Amino acid sequence: MNVHDSEKIAGILSESDHGTAGSIEEADVIVLNTCSIRQKAEQKFYSELGRLRTLKKNNPDLKIAVAGCIAQQQGDAIFKKFPYVDFIFGPDNIDSLQTWISSRIQSTDNRQQKSALRENPGYQIKTLPMKRIGRVRAWVSIIYGCDNFCAYCVVPYTRGRERSRPCKDIYDEVVSLTGQGFKEITLLGQNVNSYGKNLPEKIDFSDLLRMVHEIVGLQRIRFVTSHPRDISEKLINTMRDLPKVCNHIHLPVQSGSDKILASMNRGYSYRDYKNKIDMLKAAIPDIAVTTDIITGFPGETDEDFQLTVNALSEIEYDGIFAFKYSERPDTKALALPDHIDETIKSERLSHILKLQEVITFKKNMALEGQELEILVEGMSETDDKNLTGRTLTNKIVNFRGDPDDIGNIVMIKVKEARQHSLYGEKVKSRK
Ligand code: SAM
Ligand code: SF4
Repeated sequence: MNVHDSEKIAGILSESDHGTAGSIEEADVIVLNTCSIRQKAEQKFYSELGRLRTLKKNNPDLKIAVAGCIAQQQGDAIFKKFPYVDFIFGPDNIDSLQTWISSRIQSTDNRQQKSALRENPGYQIKTLPMKRIGRVRAWVSIIYGCDNFCAYCVVPYTRGRERSRPCKDIYDEVVSLTGQGFKEITLLGQNVNSYGKNLPEKIDFSDLLRMVHEIVGLQRIRFVTSHPRDISEKLINTMRDLPKVCNHIHLPVQSGSDKILASMNRGYSYRDYKNKIDMLKAAIPDIAVTTDIITGFPGETDEDFQLTVNALSEIEYDGIFAFKYSERPDTKALALPDHIDETIKSERLSHILKLQEVITFKKNMALEGQELEILVEGMSETDDKNLTGRTLTNKIVNFRGDPDDIGNIVMIKVKEARQHSLYGEKVKSRK
């Protein structure tokens, strides 16, 4: 989501005639887009901002803006602590960068500008200019904010209440993207499954998928993130029936313990969750499933943690993102008893990461010798002789090929499974 917000920020800067600087030292404007999901992300931002102090000293005309969730949460406190910051705007006020940047170009006024932060939950969603990364896959926002208030999570406080984007705006954006040659879109939101709830038109996420699926030229549709509670039979059947919808779902479980899930306010038990996975696998047998896990949530005993380990072994995810529980301002979890020692959180984290490495590699090995359809995204970042793309199940495949294949669907025979990717050989192309 932040990467996509940065595409909007870059789009606004490009429209106001700001190109990309060769290095940070050469920049006239620096915008730091921040994340506050975990403490580590926040610390990274503060050390980066500290480094910019010297740049501003050497170049008093340099403009520094802070965007994103830390900006939203800290507000004017950032101005007080870092007097060399010129402008602050939150994730719901990215459009305010347009006004700020044009007034800055015209004026020599060097005073800090009032921050642009969401105060009104009825904020109108605008379509902003964008400078996209790549030319094959694109992000498309469909729903903003979140109403779930999971006990550990800062998102509802920083990104505000849930608001769905009108389906016509989404449709028009995807039509425009396919016109520009993009082949794959990822529909984006904190909880895409609750799409449509607050719209005047009667539409849900499955209906939106069907609508977008009709767009000629679009080859693949993905979406993140789904909330397990809101996965419906209708959505599963829609995923099964629409060939452009990729065979992958990211379904964060967070924990395998019902006690912890209840205390996290997730709204499902592990059994409910597993039933949804079973329904998905019954409808789409080769579906890949990935998840998010938190270790060391307050009150997590060894027995609770063992239930998470059991869940990983039982479900055999294709991949996981796992994190140590991190205390976040305003969240309900702060007040819970029995916070867990950092060392135990780390030990539990490394235990499940190791377990998952074995599972992921085993799953990758099972693909050796198979022919898979991949959408070629570009040159590999690690080897400029290789092209890279993804399978329908979101596995990265590198192969020796012709740059003319970028943007095409090609068939690949998997030659070698690696820990985080596959290596293959092109069999034939399909435009
Ligand atoms: N909306 C999505 C969902 O419900 O799964 C994703 C939200 S969040 C941006 C991505 C992941 O960060 C979450 O699934 C959770 O595992 C993790 N996360 C959020 N808050 C956290 C915290 N305080 N400490 C550790 N991990 C956290
Ligand atoms: Fe955070 Fe929960 Fe909302 Fe996801 S669903 S953004 S974890 S509050």
